[in-house]
Amino acid sequence: MENLITNYEKYFVHDLQSRRFQPETFNQIVQNIFKNNEHIFEIKEIGKSFEGRKINLIKIGEGKTKILLWSQMHGDESTATMAIADIFNFFAKFFKENEVQKLLSKISLFFIPILNPDGAAKHQRLSAQLIDLNRDALKLVTPEARILKQVQTELKPEIGFNLHDQELSTVGYTNQITRIALLAPALDENQSDNEVRIQAKKIAASLVNILNNFIPGKISRYDESYEPRAFGDKMQSWGTSTILIESGHEINDPEKSIIRKLNAVSLLSIFHDIANQNYKNVDISVYEKLPYNTYRAYDLIIRNVKIRYKNGTEIDADLGISYQVNTHTTDIPVLMEIGDLSTFVALKDVEGNGREISEEDIHIEKEFNLKKYFLEV
Ligand SMILES: [Zn+2]
Repeated sequence: MENLITNYEKYFVHDLQSRRFQPETFNQIVQNIFKNNEHIFEIKEIGKSFEGRKINLIKIGEGKTKILLWSQMHGDESTATMAIADIFNFFAKFFKENEVQKLLSKISLFFIPILNPDGAAKHQRLSAQLIDLNRDALKLVTPEARILKQVQTELKPEIGFNLHDQELSTVGYTNQITRIALLAPALDENQSDNEVRIQAKKIAASLVNILNNFIPGKISRYDESYEPRAFGDKMQSWGTSTILIESGHEINDPEKSIIRKLNAVSLLSIFHDIANQNYKNVDISVYEKLPYNTYRAYDLIIRNVKIRYKNGTEIDADLGISYQVNTHTTDIPVLMEIGDLSTFVALKDVEGNGREISEEDIHIEKEFNLKKYFLEV
């Protein structure tokens, strides 16, 4: 099984390269994978989004242990959706292999790719009704949240994976950018454990062991505070051991293809561990000792510039810049912070060589005129 999984090039879906894609594009690409493979994939429309887009549930396998995975409940968080396409392709390519047959006799996989297709179409976090679906697990006012709740009620999956992309962050106080963050969501504000959550922690710990083969020291624990309106926390109390997987960032990887591969490889590996119940003996502290995400990183840091003030004085400073999306295609460089950023890391680190920047171009949390000063960046 491991040799199949690590042979990623064999099942990587080449048609999906940019992480900004329309849900219809995704549907077409996976339809091509499903074609002539009705014996592998069972596809069921389980409802429609607020704007009438189809939401599908795809089932693979006939085993007793049910695993539910849903992605992109935040419309602009598409990395795991791309990995799900790769996973579909894996099963299409390797279905006849003995190990895959054995796997699918022990587990049943249920995927809801793109739970928020309206948000995905606009490349926005929120639903078409401008609601955060991951804060709608209690009231269920959105059709998308009701669909997820209904699937959970009908299937009663033993295990769930809630798949997201997170903000740029670092692993604790190290200089490492977080590649993947994990969480076994809380049951209550006291961080109590029960069997359901302990199982989630064991699966999270197994995921850490898997990921340590690829990204040791680059895995964080996601914020644990209890959020009763979130699906992860709610699923846990509904009896589904739920693990949140947050796709982070990699240097020089704007389309997140490396993080996507980590998603695909680690999910396929954890399916194998769940089928064999390997995770049951794992040491939970592997998960519990993960450093938390901390926020000491910017998309771009320009180090050692001079800021020239109107009164004739100047200071040495670094510039911390985040790219923010305001349209479907353009990222705006926004100046977040100036001053000493020596304890910060960046996806792109640039030497400013003492270039002078005029006070009138410094506006915090506003667009920075990069081209005026740093044409080459
Ligand atoms: Zn999210």
